[in-house]
Amino acid sequence: MAHRNAEVVICGAGIAGVAAAYHLAVRRGVSDVIVVDERPPLSLTSDKSAECYRNWWPGPDDAMVAAMNRSIDLLEDLARESGNVFRLNRRGYLFATADPARVPQFVRAAETAAALGAGPARLHDRPGSDYQPAPAESFETQPTGSDVITDRALIRRHFGWLADDTLALLHARRCGWFSGQQLGMYLLERARDKGVRVLEGRVERVDTAGGRVTAVQVSGAGGGHTVATPRVVVAAGPRLQSVGRLLGVELPVFCERHAKIAFNDSLGAMPRAAPLTIWTDPVRLPWSDDERTELADSEHRHLLDEFPAGVHGRPEGTGESQSVLLIWAYDLEPVEPTFPLGFDPGYPEIVIRGMSRVVPAMAAYLARLPRAFVDGGYYTKTRENRFLAGPLPIDGAYVIGALSGYGLMASNAAADLLAAHVTGAPLPAYAPAFMLDRYDDPAYRARLEHWGDSGQL
Ligand SMILES: Cc1cc2nc3c(=O)[nH]c(=O)nc-3n(C[C@H](O)[C@H](O)[C@H](O)COP(=O)(O)OP(=O)(O)OC[C@H]3O[C@@H](n4cnc5c(N)ncnc54)[C@H](O)[C@@H]3O)c2cc1C
Repeated sequence: MAHRNAEVVICGAGIAGVAAAYHLAVRRGVSDVIVVDERPPLSLTSDKSAECYRNWWPGPDDAMVAAMNRSIDLLEDLARESGNVFRLNRRGYLFATADPARVPQFVRAAETAAALGAGPARLHDRPGSDYQPAPAESFETQPTGSDVITDRALIRRHFGWLADDTLALLHARRCGWFSGQQLGMYLLERARDKGVRVLEGRVERVDTAGGRVTAVQVSGAGGGHTVATPRVVVAAGPRLQSVGRLLGVELPVFCERHAKIAFNDSLGAMPRAAPLTIWTDPVRLPWSDDERTELADSEHRHLLDEFPAGVHGRPEGTGESQSVLLIWAYDLEPVEPTFPLGFDPGYPEIVIRGMSRVVPAMAAYLARLPRAFVDGGYYTKTRENRFLAGPLPIDGAYVIGALSGYGLMASNAAADLLAAHVTGAPLPAYAPAFMLDRYDDPAYRARLEHWGDSGQL
């Protein structure tokens, strides 16, 4: 059994653990940080993401918007200092509807987001309105807030590839995507420059004495390690709950399985410069009359039912890439995380059919489906879909996780917050919204009963 010492041991080298190591070592000057993971860094959930970001979040208060604005500030700083190695863009999220009832909802959503701090709402209800589309690559000098476009001529002029019956668009602007792997590797390299070490192995036990963390026991291919440390950070992604139990803490999180597909859009159905495009109406999948009859008598008859709102997609890659990513979370249940994950073989067809409602040119793929690559992972979530970053009820123990479907975009704010807790630095106003002890407050627990929109796409 080898012995080591560390100021801080981080359990997990996903984006949460890597960002925590970066913020502790690089931005807060903590020396002797060890990150322990049984897998290569960033390889469990953090390489399965759609890599999008947004400051577009619901209430009930401004905590999510404030935290995401902070995270995006940090991402933009990192992009500037690195020559944008992780290709941060600012194309926005484009929400689309063909439902007249949703048009006033778009206007209200834009005003609510403005009140929460996402930036101003601009309404474009005339053909000559000065709506400014987003550039494909740059993130500098772009507007924040949102543009709501209700003039159909304006919609056709800028987004003629969307369904003809699109009645309104909401273009949220402080949003886009980036390479999560490149971001993670950049953070890890900067952290290593400051002495952060990565130890391959599994955290099996956390030792405590007198209610304080004293050591972490790690098993690995090269034998076991005892790392004497006064601080441990649980950053175990979908294993958050089981690692929390090593400390005798029951973390209020659960997992959902989420998948995405990628395929070559060889017909160019989706323009390469398109924003992330989200259809906000429920969808009935398009089938021919014969297919409909056949399905009605089969075990797959549910494919004739209405599917929930939210099918979305975006182009992926630069240069000659023809790849598009599509996601549709139409079937979600809390599950125990097990690996490797399995996915419904029908998922690619369902998502391409669904997306053809939004981007009609995709219907050309329905006769002969393109070969699609399917992958995914678990969203690890709290009930109200707000992450955890802060102390646990054992001296020296901390958590960063429950980053749900937004962990790439939120990792910098969450890690910045965690590092402030660890080093005793002043905390931002939104800190209490992400601490575990929020659930000790009966008033907060009562609010959970009527929480409303969790912001999940
Ligand atoms: C389909 C899909 C789409 C997504 N899209 C987006 C998006 O567009 N934008 C966005 O921001 N986010 C997105 N996400 C979410 C994002 O990927 C996650 O929130 C994020 O990767 C979580 O990071 P993590 O570090 O908490 O977990 P992980 O990446 O899972 O890392 C946890 C690490 O802990 C390690 N570990 C666990 N237990 C132990 C132990 N006992 N000892 C040692 N190591 C241990 C694991 O091996 C793992 O490496 C998406 C996720 C999915 C699945």
